[in-house]
Amino acid sequence: MTVAKAMLAVDGTRAVAAFRAFAEAAERPVEPHGDGIRIGLMAGGLVIEPRGKDTAITVDAADATGLQLICDTLVERLAGMGLVPEWQEDMAGKRPGNQALARIAGVTRISPSYSRVVIEGEDLGRFANEPLHFRLLMGPADAPWPVTDETGATDWPGGIGEWHRPVYTTREAEPTRQGTRLSFDVFRHDGGRVTAWCDRVSPGGEIALTGPGGRGYPAPVGWLGLVGDETAMPVMARILSALPSDARGAAAIVVPHSEDIQQISHPEGVMLRWCIRGKGETPLSALASLPFPDNDRHIFFAAEKSEAEQARKWLNERGFQKGESRAAAYWTAR
Ligand SMILES: Cc1cc2nc3c(=O)[nH]c(=O)nc-3n(C[C@H](O)[C@H](O)[C@H](O)COP(=O)(O)OP(=O)(O)OC[C@H]3O[C@@H](n4cnc5c(N)ncnc54)[C@H](O)[C@@H]3O)c2cc1C
Repeated sequence: MTVAKAMLAVDGTRAVAAFRAFAEAAERPVEPHGDGIRIGLMAGGLVIEPRGKDTAITVDAADATGLQLICDTLVERLAGMGLVPEWQEDMAGKRPGNQALARIAGVTRISPSYSRVVIEGEDLGRFANEPLHFRLLMGPADAPWPVTDETGATDWPGGIGEWHRPVYTTREAEPTRQGTRLSFDVFRHDGGRVTAWCDRVSPGGEIALTGPGGRGYPAPVGWLGLVGDETAMPVMARILSALPSDARGAAAIVVPHSEDIQQISHPEGVMLRWCIRGKGETPLSALASLPFPDNDRHIFFAAEKSEAEQARKWLNERGFQKGESRAAAYWTAR
């Protein structure tokens, strides 16, 4: 477990009451801790203890990634109230705990619509399992990688709005003598900044990632349905190849051309259908053709934002209850 401690110049009793109200509104668990409280968060916890006219804050998390996420959110929320935590340790100038640096080992055009990027680094081991996703960091020209400021939060050179931070899915991660080699597949599309980056970079170049983050594998279920567009092909491949051999279900992946079809291992009981967009198939038509059962089922759909909204409506209309489906927006058409 990693921990960060700070003091806040706010009356302790008032701070405990305010944090408790925030936790209850956010439906986070609150338990007594010493003379204060501990709030359970997704990535760890937050202990708030009165110290007279001040308040002691302790952030705990399972790893540095979680710790940075909590600290960034805490600092942002406190800044909105005009408050700045004073950390016990000197926080300035450090690499944020959720950031990893890596070297580009190669970028290969694996099919008409995909480039595969292979990177290597000492800190990439944590991207090997779950959660399945990470963000690439692309900053303004010549900007250095972000470091922490004196409040412990990530300081984005030029402002966070100037950074492109698209989400990608780890395809494979394997240990090497110096660390980990990780690959991800980039769907190439018009105007894509990552597509242009793939064509520009060369082996040896440096890259920064944050994460891992987002979801892991779907929970086990009697029948699993998967529908994904080009950007969700990598996550569908991860899920399919991790399923137990007795899993049952059906998957449909939409790609532009038949030459974009990849070999993906999957259990015999999970039918995999590749849908070719060039032949008029779409994620929504693929969803409509899934042969789903009436119960003990889960459908995961991932595509463009408006398609995810339509999929959600379609699933509701067919009686899918909360927990029986998830329709995720993987990109937004602009
Ligand atoms: C959890 C998650 C996992 C993801 N995993 C992957 C992955 O492994 N591989 C992958 O390729 N993508 C993945 N994506 C999608 C990816 O993050 C977005 O497509 C992102 O916008 C790509 O950035 P860009 O630089 O290519 O495009 P941007 O520079 O952000 O966008 C430029 C223009 O392209 C449009 N655009 C963005 N995406 C697409 C698209 N797919 N098709 C057509 N036009 C588009 C935008 O609307 C905009 O007009 C994932 C998204 C999520 C949420």
